[in-house]
Amino acid sequence: MNVKIDMHRNREGASHGVCGCRSDRRRAVRPGHRTRTTRTGAGAGGPGGVGTGGRVWPRYYDSLTLFSPAGHSSLPGLPFGGDPERYPHRDEVVAYLLRYADRLDADIRTGVRVAEVATADGGFTLTLEDGGRLSARGVVAASGTFGRPYRPALPGLEKFAGAVLHAADYRAPQPSAGPGVPPAGGRGRVVVVGAGNSAVQIAAELAAHARVTLAARHPVRFTRQRVLGRDLHWWLKVTGIDVLPVGRFLRTPPAQPVIDDGRYRAAVTAGAPDVRPVFREMEGTKVTWTDGSTEEVDTIVLATGYRPDLGYLRPVGALDAEGRPRHREGVSATHPGLAYVGLEWQRSLSSNSLRGVGRDATRIAARLAARLRAR
Ligand SMILES: Cc1cc2nc3c(=O)[nH]c(=O)nc-3n(C[C@H](O)[C@H](O)[C@H](O)COP(=O)(O)OP(=O)(O)OC[C@H]3O[C@@H](n4cnc5c(N)ncnc54)[C@H](O)[C@@H]3O)c2cc1C
Repeated sequence: MNVKIDMHRNREGASHGVCGCRSDRRRAVRPGHRTRTTRTGAGAGGPGGVGTGGRVWPRYYDSLTLFSPAGHSSLPGLPFGGDPERYPHRDEVVAYLLRYADRLDADIRTGVRVAEVATADGGFTLTLEDGGRLSARGVVAASGTFGRPYRPALPGLEKFAGAVLHAADYRAPQPSAGPGVPPAGGRGRVVVVGAGNSAVQIAAELAAHARVTLAARHPVRFTRQRVLGRDLHWWLKVTGIDVLPVGRFLRTPPAQPVIDDGRYRAAVTAGAPDVRPVFREMEGTKVTWTDGSTEEVDTIVLATGYRPDLGYLRPVGALDAEGRPRHREGVSATHPGLAYVGLEWQRSLSSNSLRGVGRDATRIAARLAARLRAR
């Protein structure tokens, strides 16, 4: 039997892909069986990089550190190393993922995205955006939760004449680092839309350089990063909350609180940023707040989250009418040779995190390999 499993990954965002790959190799390779694992992905900095999804970790904002400590952020088989209590910076995460990918005996192709998946001869044909093709008996869609910046319909946003950017495009608070955040001269009026971790972190960072308001649909909820001397993730692990398999019962994932070491709550309490309900209207550069007051705003930052980027599976009928994958705990409900890794609440709270992906990948690899062997 020739089991060929293709994983849609690039090297830098490779955590779930590489975990799945590793698990596949442990589970599916047996004497007399040939297993080949190919991972593709859009490395924007790689040769001929296309699309927006590539090199995802290097593209996150400059000040980003993991909110989970190193000791709770490793992929299977390769500890982060160093102090397990520290919160690794973005660049350290990139280096770690590259190190992890380098250890794998897998065909990793960067700088290319999968455009479309079709069924063929009991398996799949994958058409790449550069026109290339791959065939596979099994496909693991590991293209992440954060592939498609979500831009909600906000009142008057289409009439706003100032700068609008998504958190995915935000880098740093210097004027040169992004379009108009804050506007040239270092002063300006910025509204950050959202109430999650990215929204609060970006708003607090910008508030040192501009007057910033956090426009939120609900009050900002904080949770302490350390409780009784332990990081929150230690508690999630010892209580079992991290692995509770409740994902399939959640149609709408609950909003995550802002993980805070104290500085974000202090910033909000000090009014930098201040928090208001989302504006009532925008026109030109004028924003009308819900209390009827108006003011000029230079920049809107949409820290409004992401959606999975699974459009390449639409032609094969693997998605529902709203573009969500039909699956149960990562096993496709539509195609026996198709599986998912890294979806939000795929199985549990930790499913789309570095600390949880290994568990899901091992399960998915075993199930997919068994399904393929049975055919
Ligand atoms: C701001 C932020 C902070 C985070 N902090 C933490 C943290 O502290 N701790 C933690 O454990 N987790 C954290 N996470 C989550 C963590 O980043 C992800 O779990 C991790 O990056 C793995 O995600 P992933 O591999 O599923 O997807 P991603 O990292 O999003 O990678 C998806 C990959 O798929 C590729 N791709 C997409 N579409 C296609 C296609 N059509 N064809 C080919 N390739 C494609 C992309 O190029 C990309 O390389 C954070 C995420 C964000 C956004």
